[in-house]
Amino acid sequence: MKLDVDRKRLVSEIEALASISDGEAPAVTRIVFTPTDLKARAWLRTRCEEAGLAVRWDAVGNTFARWAGSDPAAAAVGTGSHIDAIPNAGKYDGVVGVLGGLEAIRALQRSGFRPKHSIELLVFTSEEPTRFGIGCLGSRLLSGSLSPEAAGRLADDEGKSIDEVRGGAGLQGELADVKLADGYYKAFVELHIEQGPLLERQQIPLGVVTNIAAPASLRISIAGAGGHAGGVLMPDRRDALCAAAELILAIENAALTSGAWDTVATVGMCEVFPGAVNSIPSQVRLSVDIRDTDRERRDAVMRAAENAGQAISAKRQVAIHTDLLNADAPANCAPGVVEALSQSCQKRGQNFLPMVSRAYHDSLFMARITPTGMLFIPCRNGYSHRPDEYASAEDIARGTLVLAETLAVLSA
Ligand SMILES: [Zn+2]
Repeated sequence: MKLDVDRKRLVSEIEALASISDGEAPAVTRIVFTPTDLKARAWLRTRCEEAGLAVRWDAVGNTFARWAGSDPAAAAVGTGSHIDAIPNAGKYDGVVGVLGGLEAIRALQRSGFRPKHSIELLVFTSEEPTRFGIGCLGSRLLSGSLSPEAAGRLADDEGKSIDEVRGGAGLQGELADVKLADGYYKAFVELHIEQGPLLERQQIPLGVVTNIAAPASLRISIAGAGGHAGGVLMPDRRDALCAAAELILAIENAALTSGAWDTVATVGMCEVFPGAVNSIPSQVRLSVDIRDTDRERRDAVMRAAENAGQAISAKRQVAIHTDLLNADAPANCAPGVVEALSQSCQKRGQNFLPMVSRAYHDSLFMARITPTGMLFIPCRNGYSHRPDEYASAEDIARGTLVLAETLAVLSA
């Protein structure tokens, strides 16, 4: 099969989509269901229809563009990603998987290949948590990982409910109908920029993902006693920030001693009240993000944090309260899809690195309902979620070619 990726067209489409933005170029800002997002969706729909794909969307705006196979009743092979972008982001996160997926389908069409299983480009709604505070909204609903009732309770910062917002975007139907029927997909593959530095550093052009790490997020509130920085002597203090400091180091230590490099823990936010130079901190709020490829190991770090909190609370006479905001399970990529990706790299003479996805993606949720894999391409300095995010045309085209080859294998 002679497969050719139209690199020039693909790059010009990435530029065209980047120009539909609420940020000033090169920054891209495209929040779900804003007029800009709707314009981008309409633009993309036209590109899909030009390729002869049958386009449909569900009640939450997940978009499906299908190239019918010779056995249209057979389970489809899916590929895709997202086009929403956080404020002041770049051009490539998500978009490479969507427009690369579309170009992979067009390359297969041009080659004369005819799939047995339909190939479907899938564009997920709201992978980014910007508007509704939850990431991967579309894929959570598709996979049944988020109940329609819980989704129905979501609202944006202006207090608009998800039903109001999607209604305003012209989407009808029930959230309960978004979940895909069992066996809808035969397999799913997502092409994505790495969002990390490993491929570039090792000068390896492609990454085949074996595991997708998943975060657990906690919010910890510590309440001690405030007072005058001069007046309260040390033995009488119940300093909430000193307790937080001990707890932060305990969390770091729990991740460091988990026994695996894949365990990472981050305290990214520390709010101190009242926050004055001459006032003993009476209250502290911490955000904690713990990630791993192994759920039990990650959850053990969460338990270690809880235990440390109890010990510190008793020792320092402060109240420590922990809220679990979210704890998604990590996913393993399917051996069959990993194999198809690896063989496609080899067939195209491309070196690849088996690797872990440290960020999470819609594929994390797709993996719960269908055999799933991911293909990474390098991005400069590992930068992502910033305007200078960059992937070269050569790397994008290479990823798209291997994706096309993989879709051919999976859909034959
Ligand atoms: Zn992404």
